[in-house]
Amino acid sequence: MADYDGIIIGAGHNGLILQAYLGKAGLKTLCIERRHVAGGGLSTLEDPRHPGFLHNTHAFFQRAITTMPWYAELELARHGAHYIEPELNVALLTSDGRALEWWTDVERTVASFGEFSARDADTLRRWQHEFVPIVRDILVPESRSIPLPPDERRAALQKSAAGRRLLEVSALSPLEFVHREFEHPTVKAGLLFFNGLREVDLRIKGFGHHIAALLASPAKAQMSRGGSAALARALEAAVREAGGDIMLTTEPARIVVENGRAIGVKTAEGELIRAKQFVASSLNPTQTFVDLLDKALVPRAIREQIERFQYNLLAPLFALHLNLTEPPRYAAASNRPELAKAFMVIMGLDHVDQFLDIVRHHEAGTIPPTVMWGACPTLFDPSQAPPGRHTAFMWEKLPYRLNGNPASWDSARREHGKVMLQLWRRHAPNLADAVIDVFTRSPLDVERELPNMREGDLLVGAFTNDQVGFDRPFRGAGDYRTHIPQLYLCGSSSHPGGNITGLPGYNAAQVILSDLGVRTEATA
Ligand SMILES: Cc1cc2nc3c(=O)[nH]c(=O)nc-3n(C[C@H](O)[C@H](O)[C@H](O)COP(=O)(O)OP(=O)(O)OC[C@H]3O[C@@H](n4cnc5c(N)ncnc54)[C@H](O)[C@@H]3O)c2cc1C
Repeated sequence: MADYDGIIIGAGHNGLILQAYLGKAGLKTLCIERRHVAGGGLSTLEDPRHPGFLHNTHAFFQRAITTMPWYAELELARHGAHYIEPELNVALLTSDGRALEWWTDVERTVASFGEFSARDADTLRRWQHEFVPIVRDILVPESRSIPLPPDERRAALQKSAAGRRLLEVSALSPLEFVHREFEHPTVKAGLLFFNGLREVDLRIKGFGHHIAALLASPAKAQMSRGGSAALARALEAAVREAGGDIMLTTEPARIVVENGRAIGVKTAEGELIRAKQFVASSLNPTQTFVDLLDKALVPRAIREQIERFQYNLLAPLFALHLNLTEPPRYAAASNRPELAKAFMVIMGLDHVDQFLDIVRHHEAGTIPPTVMWGACPTLFDPSQAPPGRHTAFMWEKLPYRLNGNPASWDSARREHGKVMLQLWRRHAPNLADAVIDVFTRSPLDVERELPNMREGDLLVGAFTNDQVGFDRPFRGAGDYRTHIPQLYLCGSSSHPGGNITGLPGYNAAQVILSDLGVRTEATA
């Protein structure tokens, strides 16, 4: 066994990004992964019954990947990654055959909103315009650095007009923001849907800026050519080029601490792998502090914080995947031919009040009327199916504890897939004859595959006010360091949170390199 400088637990994209940076800085590292494949949520599976049909079973819509600092710095395009950003980025199909559209060109988005409400179109343009500098100068830099304690952050923001405006807008809840600013129920629903994608509880104050920030962000949804796993493969290539090792199908049993410092990992097979300089965990706080550390090493105050750690009620997703002879042909496209090339398609959502209904169902563990969204990847990347064939999927937010028990999903899955297909056919009647194969995945399947996504929470920890920024995963723990010297956090439970952003791994790399006194371009 090589002599490692550092060990990373979990080969999701955050772990791999951290590893690639440390390798580039000259450190010898090992990543330990429990699955047979690296990439975590960057997962693309081939249908075992129908070779050549590829399905992205976790992350598919990846926001602004090509603008992330690590994408260029780790030379991922050279390592084989390639991203596609369709122009008609999102289309919400209403039950009366209309479509609310988000384009990469904001003027086309404004024009589409204007078909629903001229006033809302003006409001959209105004917020988009006002938030461009706030996103560029405050929110993007914040996401790429160690968060400040809330008081210090507030004091820093108070010093500029843009900062004061951000504080004022974020004091609202997303729901208050849309009700105050917009008038049309479908426009409100569409805007909240994006916010909902971030899984923030729409009723919570402190997140009122999210919608304006998403409107102003130059970063739209992108997809990875060859499937999401192609990004994982590029990251693995970057890791290996920098001398990193990845050990698959290996579970850690313990993070080993000697003389108060993290010095390695003991595997489930009983092997001790030593790390001279650090151990970094990309897992959730329960796994890191409860499952992998001796109880005596975790002070009671921290244990209590971990016990209080919350997972997102609204994050769990149910997925319906199809193999097709032709792409879904939406009835609404007869009036709007551009819909034939819509990337993300949303169905079942007409009115803002549906959100509260969805929250109520999640709290009760019951299934709400279907609101779903998805894509037909092969419209933009034919390599994901055999020639002339297609794949498509829809996701729906559904409760993890169905009828009070997650195990209920194993018997309810098939029937629920049929309900989703029914709605899909209503909008795309050609699906009645085009389906070659169908499979579904429940929130319980997500947790089984990636146990760090506890309770099916794909963001690995709720976005509530006491679990963001400096306080993610818990109060004061936002700087990626832990109470144990040489033990770090680097996954989605840390700032700025889940989704394919790579920023927890990127930020953790800067912290570790700085603690080790290694200077790089990013830390200089
Ligand atoms: C159905 C679904 C759809 C999604 N859609 C999107 C989307 O469209 N866009 C988007 O940006 N995000 C999406 N996400 C979320 C995204 O996949 C995650 O937020 C992201 O993968 C988190 O990255 P990570 O590196 O922190 O963790 P992960 O990707 O989860 O990686 C963690 C790694 O740790 C490993 N691991 C877990 N436990 C152990 C252990 N005990 N020992 C060793 N290894 C372990 C796992 O196997 C995994 O490889 C989706 C997720 C799901 C489930």
